[in-house]
Amino acid sequence: MSNDQMKFSTLVVHAGSAPQPHTAGVADSIHLSTTFVHGADGRRAPAGLEYQREAHPNALALELALSSVEGGIESLCFASGMAAISALMHGLEGHGEVLIGSDVYQGTRTLAREYLQPAGFNVREVDHADLDAFERAIGPLTRLVWLETPSNPLLAVGDIARTALLCKAHSAILAVDNTFASPALQNPLRLGADVVMHSTTKYLGGHSDVMGGALVFAQRGALFERVAHFRHLHGALLPPFSAWLTLRGLRTLSVRMDRHASNALRVAEYLAGRGEIERVNYPGLATHRNHELAARQMRAFGGMLSMQMKGGRDAALKVAERLRLFTNATSLGGVESLVEHRASVEGAHPVTADNLLRLSIGLEDADDLIADLAQALDGI
Ligand SMILES: *Cc1c(COP(=O)(O)O)cnc(C)c1O
Repeated sequence: MSNDQMKFSTLVVHAGSAPQPHTAGVADSIHLSTTFVHGADGRRAPAGLEYQREAHPNALALELALSSVEGGIESLCFASGMAAISALMHGLEGHGEVLIGSDVYQGTRTLAREYLQPAGFNVREVDHADLDAFERAIGPLTRLVWLETPSNPLLAVGDIARTALLCKAHSAILAVDNTFASPALQNPLRLGADVVMHSTTKYLGGHSDVMGGALVFAQRGALFERVAHFRHLHGALLPPFSAWLTLRGLRTLSVRMDRHASNALRVAEYLAGRGEIERVNYPGLATHRNHELAARQMRAFGGMLSMQMKGGRDAALKVAERLRLFTNATSLGGVESLVEHRASVEGAHPVTADNLLRLSIGLEDADDLIADLAQALDGI
C-alpha cells in the first residue's frame, strides 16, 4: 500500500519505519555516533552520512516520517521550534516585506522584529483571521507570509487555501505554523502552503519530555537548500535521542489527538455555559468567529482553548490557583492538562488580555476535567 492510500492513523504508525538492519529490531535504534566512516578520498559510505551536525540516522528517520504525514517532499528537524523558525527566516533572500499574523506565538513575533527587521525586511502584522486584511497588505515586495492557525492564544483560524492563492499571485512564500492542529487535523501543504513549521515539543512529542522543531517543504528548491545549509553551519539539528523520542511520540499522535479534541470540545461547551466567563475561544464552538472555516479546514478542532473571565485578572488568577488537575505551566500538547495566565508570563509588555487563561486539554477523563473547572469557578 502506498502512503497516498493509507488513512492517517495507519500512516502515522508506519511512516518512515523499517526493521532495523543488523538486529531486525521492530523498534528503532538510537544512533549516537558523531562521525561516519568515509573513503580515503573523502567519498561517503552509501548511507551518505559524514558528521552528526549535518545529519544522523535518527533525524533522517524522523524527517522521512514527517514528510509523509504532512504530505511534503523534504523535512528538516531542529533542536527547537524557535530554531526551525529562525532557520527559515534566515533562508529568505534579499529584502522586502514579511507579513505575520497578529496573534502568532510571541517568540515568532520577537524573532521577526529583532532579527528580520534589522536585516532589511519590513515586518508587518495583519489580523490573520481576516483574509481581506491580507489581501490589502500583500504586494510585490512581500517575500514571506507567516500564518499560524489556530493561533496562540486566541485560537483564531486563518484560511490557508485562500492565503496560498494570494501568495502564489505575488510570488511570496507561505509558511504555516501547524503546531496547534498537528498533521492529525490539518495538512497545510495540501492546501497550497510552501512550508509547514512545527514545534514538535508540543503534540508531536506529546509527553512534555522532548524539545524539537521541524520544517516540512512542498518542494526541494533553493529555499530548502539555504535552510539546510544554515542548519548545518549553525549547529541547529535535533540530537539523536530527541529525534528518537519525537518519532516515538509521533506514532501515537492520531489516538492522542482524537482524545485531546473530544475532551476539549466537551470542556469548551461546559465553560460556554458558565456565567463567570465572558468568552470561550475554541474553534469548535458555533459561536467562534471562524467556526465555519475551521470546520472546513480541520478534521477536528484540537486540544487548545482559552477563556476570558468577566471578573478580569483577579478572577483569572484565582481560577488558575484553585485548579487541581490542571497544572500551572507553560507549553502545551502533552498528556497532562495545563493552565496558564498568559499575560503574567509575557514579560514587561504583555500582549494578551489579562483576563485570559489558556488551557491545554490533556488525556484525562473529560468528566474529571470538568469537575475540576467547576470547583475552581465555584470558588471565585
Ligand atoms: C511552542 C511554540 C513555538 C516555539 O517552539 P519551541 O519548541 O518552544 O521552540 C512556536 N509556535 C507555536 C505555536 C508554539 O506553540
